[in-house]
Amino acid sequence: MSTLSPNDQTDIVAADRAHVWHHLTQHRAFDQADPAVFVEGHGLRLWDIEGREFLDAVSGGVWTVNVGYGRRSIADAVHEQLVKLNYFAASAGSIPGARFAEQLIARMPGMSRVYYSTSGSEANEKVFKMVRQISAQHHGGRKWKILFRERDYHGTTLGTLAACGQPQRSAAYGPFAPGFVEVPHCLEYRSQFPDAARYGEAAADAIEHVIEREGADTIGALCLEPITAGGGVIVPPQGYWQRVQEICRRHDILLHVDEVVCGLGRTGTWFGYQNFGIQPDFVTMAKGVASGYAAIACTVTTEAVFEKFRHADGGELGYFRDISTFGGCLAGPAAALENMRIIEDERLLDNAREMGVVLERELRGLMERHAVIGDVRGLGLFWGIELVADRETRCPLDEALVGRVVGLCRRQGVLIGMTNRSLPGFNNTLCLSPALVVSHAQILQIVRAIDVALSEIAA
Ligand code: PMP
Repeated sequence: MSTLSPNDQTDIVAADRAHVWHHLTQHRAFDQADPAVFVEGHGLRLWDIEGREFLDAVSGGVWTVNVGYGRRSIADAVHEQLVKLNYFAASAGSIPGARFAEQLIARMPGMSRVYYSTSGSEANEKVFKMVRQISAQHHGGRKWKILFRERDYHGTTLGTLAACGQPQRSAAYGPFAPGFVEVPHCLEYRSQFPDAARYGEAAADAIEHVIEREGADTIGALCLEPITAGGGVIVPPQGYWQRVQEICRRHDILLHVDEVVCGLGRTGTWFGYQNFGIQPDFVTMAKGVASGYAAIACTVTTEAVFEKFRHADGGELGYFRDISTFGGCLAGPAAALENMRIIEDERLLDNAREMGVVLERELRGLMERHAVIGDVRGLGLFWGIELVADRETRCPLDEALVGRVVGLCRRQGVLIGMTNRSLPGFNNTLCLSPALVVSHAQILQIVRAIDVALSEIAA
């Protein structure tokens, strides 16, 4: 790894401190400590500006770098594309855009069309706009509401914050667009429904109660994460997804699955929803599409949805009147094609499933040693560890202590995440989402760091 001179290090940190406004960061923290500056990565290993090495168990902090750091072949593919042609608005076709769409759709039976943009928020906004336009042009403007779920997150724009189930994230930014309606979450550990034997069905029925209250003829779509990510890593209970799909079909409500986190292999299948045997109308994806090597997001629809925009009341103006300028940047699909080739050729879906089994076993072992662990849940290489002050009452562990666990892991050179300032009282889940290339030895290193950190806070 290349090293910077101490003077260069000081200059960069000073420039950062003086001029960069960090994402999701209370800058008061930098009164006491310098911001982290990472300079190089390989696989799951990451080095900061002072040459300290870390093992990254959260794929770039927010479950993004699915194929790991340092992939020269992706950089080469992007370079080759950019020197040939960097850009033309996506109202025209492109070689990597056409090829990636074809390969993506081949892995998503039942889906048909790919609309390119550059972030998860944007991809989700496209769905919301499509749903509103379908309502305007096919339902006389009546089927305009969009349902979202408590604890789910769909983005940072004002439109997607209107569909935010994490009140601490959206609190300061209202008032929001009308017509976004919340439905209950489905986390069995924080049981809301008495019928334990059929919890999944009961949680889905709770969505139907909201539909009946609002009137099905006013609702255009239901938007859900396949597995809730930042809201606590919530794997839906048995029977949930099948019933959700059945309810949507019965009420003529389009089903939108937000795969921004789960897409491209995170759970050991190409997409999270494919674990549950359902067929969505919209699928959105971003982070893992190019593993952070380029900014690319996709809104994928069925042909039936697409057809609604060719045959609409709006006549000539019935097409989708939307553009994402940088959705036409060809670095995105060039990187995405190579990212997909790597996942396929290196059998990373298999590795995600196999290493997921190891990770689960190790985490369940930790649970036996640490009473502070209330629940362990996840799928593939996507896991949450919910920490509690008391196992009996399930009272959440104080957020500051959860943060200390993250800090103690970092001190051991392992980067883990937590549900961060999103749910009042419930920012108590540690999050793990290592790159899909993670090895057995690295899993053990991650779990050992958590073990040591939990022992330390218990003491
Ligand atoms: N959906 C989900 C489920 C997410 O976790 C995120 C980002 N954390 C987004 C959407 C928004 O993606 P972006 O930050 O790329 O806009």
